[in-house]
Amino acid sequence: MQNYISNIISGFGITDAIDIFIVAFVIYKVLGFIKESRAEQLVKGLLVLVLATFLSDQFHLYTMNWILKGTMTLGVIALVIVFQPELRRGLEYVGRSKLVKAPFGQLDKEKAKTITASFIKAVDNFSTNKVGALIILERETSLTDIAETGTILNADISAELLGNLFYEGSPLHDGAVIVRGDKIFAAGCVLPLTQNKTLSKELGTRHRAGIGITENSDAITLIVSEETGIISIAVDGKLSRFLDIKTVEKTLLNLFLNTNDNEKNVAAKGLSAILNRLGRKKNAAE
Ligand code: ATP
Ligand code: MG
Repeated sequence: MQNYISNIISGFGITDAIDIFIVAFVIYKVLGFIKESRAEQLVKGLLVLVLATFLSDQFHLYTMNWILKGTMTLGVIALVIVFQPELRRGLEYVGRSKLVKAPFGQLDKEKAKTITASFIKAVDNFSTNKVGALIILERETSLTDIAETGTILNADISAELLGNLFYEGSPLHDGAVIVRGDKIFAAGCVLPLTQNKTLSKELGTRHRAGIGITENSDAITLIVSEETGIISIAVDGKLSRFLDIKTVEKTLLNLFLNTNDNEKNVAAKGLSAILNRLGRKKNAAE
């Protein structure tokens, strides 16, 4: 026994430590993901099924075991179909790291400022005049499939055009505007609604759609309520309400400029962005 243990210890190298660390990290992330998605109940159900199959095998309940095994096979296929959105979200999450988020990586400082000014002017107008608006700022995750539910515009961003698009009675005022880089990519788009049941009842479909898209992507949503004029921003499935125009301006500028300064070249962002950040952290610590 002692020999066995000392064998294990002597054979334990740095790669084993890394191996264990990676597996632990992946399990931790998967558990976290299951917990925050609808999958939690399902995983519990699956565990009961697995346990029942094991017990029916142990106690030689052959018919029961046969049915349970069949159910499990079908269940795996059903799982993939029912949880397609979660699986997709999971894979998208794996595919994009926080370090490479670069919403407006191609824009220079001046352009970012002009665009922010246009958004602020439009949103301020919407809020004062209680015009409902739903604007999605695309980042890493492509929203082409969502844009295709509406009308593709590819137009320059301006407060006037945004005002026109959300003007009640205009053909495209229903639905969301999608912004890609420095263009209004599409308007009148239909978004997925959030399934979050803990949201306040006073939030209607505009807000639920605005939140929903940030659960499935890394997009950022600007919402103005038609009923109250309240401005909100949604990120990562979370909604911040009652924002004043200055806060919105700061948030947008931060968003556009941060990424512009350090990650101009989106293609080469991987390593250089990491180095950049490490460098900055070190400088800040000094
Ligand atoms: P408000 O505070 O502006 O009233 P709300 O959250 O109460 O917003 P509703 O009153 O239900 O929401 O808003 C309806 C509008 O929201 C629709 O006219 C449409 O423009 C937009 N909307 C609703 N569902 C979607 C969707 N799935 N995708 C995009 N836009 C949507
Ligand atoms: Mg409403």
